[in-house]
Amino acid sequence: AVNESAITASPSLHRAEEGLEQRTIEKDEERGEKRKRNVEGGRSPLLRFMKRHLSVTLLCDQSWCELKVEYGFRHPKVRKTDKQRTEVQTGANIHRARELEVHEVVPVNTQTREDSFAIKLLNMLHMIPILEAGQCVREFPVFGLLEGVFLMGVVDELSYNQKGELVLNELKTRRQESLPGRAQTLSHCFQVGLYKLLFDGLVRREARKEHLVDNLKLRASLELGAEVQAYAGRIGIQATSFGELVDTFLMIMSCSEVPCVDLLQIEYRHQDSSSLISTIQVPFDEVQLRAELQRYLAYWTGQREPRGVDIEEVYKCKMCPYEEICDWRKNISQAPETLHTNKRIK
Ligand code: SF4
Repeated sequence: AVNESAITASPSLHRAEEGLEQRTIEKDEERGEKRKRNVEGGRSPLLRFMKRHLSVTLLCDQSWCELKVEYGFRHPKVRKTDKQRTEVQTGANIHRARELEVHEVVPVNTQTREDSFAIKLLNMLHMIPILEAGQCVREFPVFGLLEGVFLMGVVDELSYNQKGELVLNELKTRRQESLPGRAQTLSHCFQVGLYKLLFDGLVRREARKEHLVDNLKLRASLELGAEVQAYAGRIGIQATSFGELVDTFLMIMSCSEVPCVDLLQIEYRHQDSSSLISTIQVPFDEVQLRAELQRYLAYWTGQREPRGVDIEEVYKCKMCPYEEICDWRKNISQAPETLHTNKRIK
């Protein structure tokens, strides 16, 4: 069902929120220099790259090639090709248009990181009653502590099927009118699995105020901006400080009747025609998913070195902006037999 009256954060606000994740080129360069100075410091990638949390999409990038993720931090000036950027932008535009089908967007000015996260919480609080009423929501933020690391993401869509099951749907747009290959499909399945773990954790009241405040280094006592407080009042939430809002959020979540996710699916659409390529159902195996997550997090927490692609997946290097500088790639061409004993994690 479509809810025409739902309200979510504004484009300006989205930009503010994305500011936590998406750095400007200038910032990239500045931080890149700082990272280079720290890279030999023997500290974990989480510390070296100043990550307070990991995003689900970053972990999915890691599942494609871990070394590519590391190079992305170490060489922030190397950019995607124009073709890749166009593809990503087209996909983002399609997602935005889909969100606007079910949510009205209002502009809210944010001044601090606490304001930005507050809007995330307020959007969730606004969408919870819609979900409880059996309707569809899009761009639902999720977060939580998994295997000792704070993760954040945004679920494309949550809705109910005819059996009344809660369906988590991830939209993937594609330049080619065909399904992706195995490696990309596995990465997408990992992504929706993580979303379910995070969403279910929120529903099961596993979130703690200290997880949020301590991991993200947010100031609980900080007063929210005037526009954020006004927006909160508009959706019936009274909170003057960030900490009060977190308390309210946790209290409302604890009383919520929203169920855990029953079904995971990925919807593949052609970018040019918007036609549906296929919708696939994704099985959920929590033990396997957590084991996979632990293997990826072992890199972030400094328990092992980053790894490049498997010898069977060197085709990925052809699309990689770091191909020219990649040591792993050089080793493949110089001594491919050694890589047979160095399989990428999977
Ligand atoms: Fe990974 Fe290949 Fe890129 Fe190296 S060139 S970072 S192994 S995808």
